[in-house]
Amino acid sequence: MLLSGLLSSSGYWLHQRSGTNSFQWIGESVDRVSTQKPMVALTFDDGPRGPVSRRLMLELNRLNTKATFFLVGRQIKQFPHLTTELWRSGHQLANHSFAHKAMDSGNLWRFWQEVRDTDSLIRQSGYTGPIHFRAPMGKKRLALPLVLALAQKKHILWDVNPHDYKNTAPELMVQTVLQKVRPGSIVLLHDRPNTVAALAGMVEGLRAKGYQLVTVDQLLAQQR
Ligand SMILES: [Zn+2]
Repeated sequence: MLLSGLLSSSGYWLHQRSGTNSFQWIGESVDRVSTQKPMVALTFDDGPRGPVSRRLMLELNRLNTKATFFLVGRQIKQFPHLTTELWRSGHQLANHSFAHKAMDSGNLWRFWQEVRDTDSLIRQSGYTGPIHFRAPMGKKRLALPLVLALAQKKHILWDVNPHDYKNTAPELMVQTVLQKVRPGSIVLLHDRPNTVAALAGMVEGLRAKGYQLVTVDQLLAQQR
């Protein structure tokens, strides 16, 4: 009785804490890198998505900015050439699951397969850098962190979210990012037309505030 009470209350505690963005019971989860240096990483989720992703990449290249793309396996299968173009342009690639289904409940083996299959598609594109992970919607409870720990992957979240997926106006996105950014921030963005439209304002605004735009790996290297 006492034991089952303890187990259910610790289960409850884990459930509650796992609802927060950065708490994870095993393995490393990063929502912002602890540094004083004015560096920020722009991250783009859910691609590659065809023409909009190409426009996004060309705009980043025009702005001489390197970003990190959290790619979905089934999208890579659809756009393998675009995947290769992304890393050839100097951007970092990362894993955002295979099917983009929530990973806060479900089976450990499915999570393992999704992580492994998307990693292997990223490698088939010729990419050789480290591959971090971000869960769909950032959601996880107990099983996914265990899978990530076994796969020796960092779970990369974010601390700045301008809600571009809600069709937010580009000007408002720029304003949110410039207000919320701190040294070491990770910005959550997606391959979307309103995001492409916001990009120049965001990058120029961040640079005017003294920020250097870097990949997630370059940011992690600053961790104190
Ligand atoms: Zn996503």
